Amino acid sequence: MVVATKNIAHLPGVGSLRGQLLADAFGITTHGEMLEHFPFRYQDRSMITPLSEINYGITLQCQGSLSHIKQTLKGRRKILTATLKDGSGSLLLVWFHKLSWIRRQLDPNRGYLVYGKVSKYGGKKAMIHPELTLLDTMGEQLGLQPIYATTAKLTKEGLHSKGIARLQAKLVEMYRDSLAENLPDKIIQDYKLLPRHQAMVGIHFPTDRKILAQAQRRFKFEEIFYLQLRMQSEVSQATTGQIFQSTTLLHTFYQILPFALTGAQKRALREIYADLRSGQQMNRLLQGDVGSGKTIVAFMAMLGPIAEHSQVALVVPTEILAQQHYQTISRYGEQLSLRVALLTGSTSAKERREIKAGLGSGAINILLGTHALLEEWVHFQRLGLVIIDEQHRFGVAQRAKLSQKSDLLPHVLVMTATPIPRTLSMTLYSHLASSTLDELPPNRKKVKTYRATDADRLRIFGFIKKEIAQGQQAYIVYPRIEEDRHHGYKDLMDGYESICRAFPKVPISILHGRMSAKNKRYEMERFTKGETKIMVATTVIEVGVHVAAATIIVIENAENFGLSQLHQLRGRIGRGQKQGHCILVTQKQLGTIAHKRIETMVATSDGFKIAEADLRLRGPGHIEGLAQSGLPTFKMIDINTDQTTIREASQAVKTTLQQDPHLTQHKNVQNYLTTQKNKEVDWSQVG
Ligand code: ADP
Ligand code: MG
Repeated sequence: MVVATKNIAHLPGVGSLRGQLLADAFGITTHGEMLEHFPFRYQDRSMITPLSEINYGITLQCQGSLSHIKQTLKGRRKILTATLKDGSGSLLLVWFHKLSWIRRQLDPNRGYLVYGKVSKYGGKKAMIHPELTLLDTMGEQLGLQPIYATTAKLTKEGLHSKGIARLQAKLVEMYRDSLAENLPDKIIQDYKLLPRHQAMVGIHFPTDRKILAQAQRRFKFEEIFYLQLRMQSEVSQATTGQIFQSTTLLHTFYQILPFALTGAQKRALREIYADLRSGQQMNRLLQGDVGSGKTIVAFMAMLGPIAEHSQVALVVPTEILAQQHYQTISRYGEQLSLRVALLTGSTSAKERREIKAGLGSGAINILLGTHALLEEWVHFQRLGLVIIDEQHRFGVAQRAKLSQKSDLLPHVLVMTATPIPRTLSMTLYSHLASSTLDELPPNRKKVKTYRATDADRLRIFGFIKKEIAQGQQAYIVYPRIEEDRHHGYKDLMDGYESICRAFPKVPISILHGRMSAKNKRYEMERFTKGETKIMVATTVIEVGVHVAAATIIVIENAENFGLSQLHQLRGRIGRGQKQGHCILVTQKQLGTIAHKRIETMVATSDGFKIAEADLRLRGPGHIEGLAQSGLPTFKMIDINTDQTTIREASQAVKTTLQQDPHLTQHKNVQNYLTTQKNKEVDWSQVG
């Protein structure tokens, strides 16, 4: 039994050029990876038309044997013809190009499956350059024809879908009996899965739909199994954790809190503190709707380790957010005489030296910042807890790196930006314990949401003017500027200019990803302090930004945003006492999905409902909107319809790891896992 790790370029018919193209296009470098390049669709060609019933102009499939194979001269042109007979009738097959190559493929002693359009040639029914498949070659005589993803470059080199199918046939044949199983035998039995080598035949060359369904189920199961195994193996190796029992600081702070915690916040804190004193490393997900108060929970969680002279780190995805958290947390920290430090890409060398010293001596209690925290020189005296805000922007590898920032293994608390639908959290976070803030702080006014079009612009501007006159502020948001998409930038700039014209007396800020961190900070500060009244921005403001006086958000081209992103953006307002308004400006005519998204936004403000709707609307294979939503791509799994398989595979991972935590008795699983190691969930596409 082998894990097929041979170089694909060495397979006859591939070679170094195609090998390189396969690697570039799909990351395929080995036989095994090629085999895992599954068809994305199947053409049902099980219909065989008897030759007596064929008609001109119709594309169809027939089968029979060949006779009268001959090359003749038609005028000055060489042609190749053959006659196909199936007992009911006959059909002329004609070729004009590559004659000698095709002729070599034709064998009068064997049966063929012939596919093409019937036309007239020399007064007879004929097929010009039909697709021919030997009936006894594997796969292609069968009903369902696999269709493979390919690229223009590969096609040019003969690796169109059919060319790929030929390679797959070769590989499937090669590994028919020897392809290693990568799931535990017991799991195969318990869940009645097809063995891997059989499933491989079934997925590439299914003889019928039933086999195909079984093969697909098997690979879906496998996908979830390894996805979760990769994530769980991160955490399961390190089970013992530092013990923090003190609640002294927590209680002190609780006394000076200006508001009462919600029931959900209290519950989350109880769960976190139970983890901290359990002796096991905490790996907990804190999820909650926008505005549900995750920050204060995070801060209060820090007080456990800090009370026992451990340090904590808080990592956030953007510089702006780091600034904002720094303000909030150092304000809280001050009340307890804690030292809080901020580290981002723009921290000066001098400050860095101070931070280094403060971390080493233990004088800094809380270090917060961006990815800069991962830099080599950052080292804690005693790191008790790492909190990661907005998890999906953070890779597993980066998390692992953070865990090594101290000699002691820290507890880990992960906070998400938006609620995660249950189906998805089951898939992606089954290895994490989870606390959910499903309750908003009291007296929150629901943001009113409207849909508008260009025609409403004057009214919108009038409304903004009125609100500003009463001391309120407004965001006007444009889709994120892509590096290579100049027109997004132009939209933003045009918008900015027209807003400046419409509000000649109002100070206006602008914020986008192309600005330097320093300028961003400056503009953000002006807006936060109320010096500017309108913030024209791209989605850099999306995550976590908090300005209480902002009551209006206008989202331009709202149809171009994903649902969860719209929800995030809307969460930027309605954070104070005043009524918030969210205006979604769209084109007049919307596609069905875009329409549903906007409708959902207008109808509900419940983040959990929105997340579910998002997932439903996105449907299988919809990569558009993915970058905004924090979902990794699944190869086989359709999160909407494959819940049963997801549940089964999750359970299978649990059982397997319970019985054999280090997989020492599952060498096959371990081996396959190593081939997967550098293929971690591609969070990098996200955000
Ligand atoms: P998010 O969960 O979106 O990160 P934040 O932590 O930014 O939300 O909290 C939003 C706002 O709600 C903050 O101004 C915070 O001070 C406030 N807040 C948090 N918890 C409560 C509470 N229990 N009662 C009242 N206000 C709260
Ligand atoms: Mg937040």
